Amino acid sequence: MVAKRVPLIAGNWKMNLDHLQSIAFVQKLAWSLKDARFDYAGAEVAIFPPFTDLRSVQTLISADKLELKFGGQDLSAHDSGAYTGEISGAFLKALDCSYVIIGHSERRQYHHETDEELAAKVAAAIRHGVVPVLCVGETAEDLEQHGPSAVPVAQLRAGLAGVEAGADIVVAYEPVWAIGSGQAATPEQAEQVAAALRATLVELIGHEAADATRILYGGSVKAANIAGFMRQPNVDGALVGGASLDLAEFSSIAQFQKHVGT
Ligand code: PEP
Repeated sequence: MVAKRVPLIAGNWKMNLDHLQSIAFVQKLAWSLKDARFDYAGAEVAIFPPFTDLRSVQTLISADKLELKFGGQDLSAHDSGAYTGEISGAFLKALDCSYVIIGHSERRQYHHETDEELAAKVAAAIRHGVVPVLCVGETAEDLEQHGPSAVPVAQLRAGLAGVEAGADIVVAYEPVWAIGSGQAATPEQAEQVAAALRATLVELIGHEAADATRILYGGSVKAANIAGFMRQPNVDGALVGGASLDLAEFSSIAQFQKHVGT
């Protein structure tokens, strides 16, 4: 039986919006979704602010009993100790983070994070009860040399090395060439890779968990193109970068059901 996966619309703010701006944004986002009578049972909406915003976001969401979820953009593979500048999964958990992004292409590129380090981060997130959102995706050169699925599938295998069957994870397929470029993959391209990722998940974490795992598409997602992705059987949401900083746009993406027409 195929599990019913609750779609996840995730906004990666990257290094944008300070803690005061984050409060204003989250308040307005919650109002916008409330005005639209948004059904949180039909889709989860999560934001990923910078670390310095998390306490403010947590306090607001908790005080106002908002149904928005939130998470960190990275975490340390270590639990505590002499790791200057790093953030433990334990600290994210203590702030009620539901999720943490791991292996975003910008961290792979600018911080040279390796698949082995990312596997250790995935393990750390799971150890602390924070759901990892593991990002995988090919560059334009990878696409030309190896085709669409080879690199994302290899990154998934490496990132989940050591993860037990049944693990609760989210996978984000983000072709590097589509991130911030304005040139999104086609829904068919996203589906092709998402299907290959799900087949790999069956091997890695078992049928049931693979069926239950949300696979997101990320890369130049906007309100105008979200419907095409959400119509694909193996795409269960979106990881949104630039458009997640535009309140009206992100709110509209979250309300993808209106565009999909179901
Ligand atoms: C991202 O950085 O995860 C992303 C998908 O960015 P954008 O939506 O701006 O392409």
